[in-house]
Amino acid sequence: MSVLVATAFLVIGAALESEMTRTQQAITFLQHTVECRHRFLDDCPDCTAFSRTP
Ligand SMILES: [Zn+2]
Repeated sequence: MSVLVATAFLVIGAALESEMTRTQQAITFLQHTVECRHRFLDDCPDCTAFSRTP
């Protein structure tokens, strides 16, 4: 395997990993919104924290 191909595999692996993390965060937030009693994002620390996550 050439160095270039090995590097490509590393980049793809890192991209997939960050995508998984974002998906997991979105699922966690969706589950929270079902239980959240706050009306506005700013009223809830959890919602605010999520909405400010890049
Ligand atoms: Zn909330």
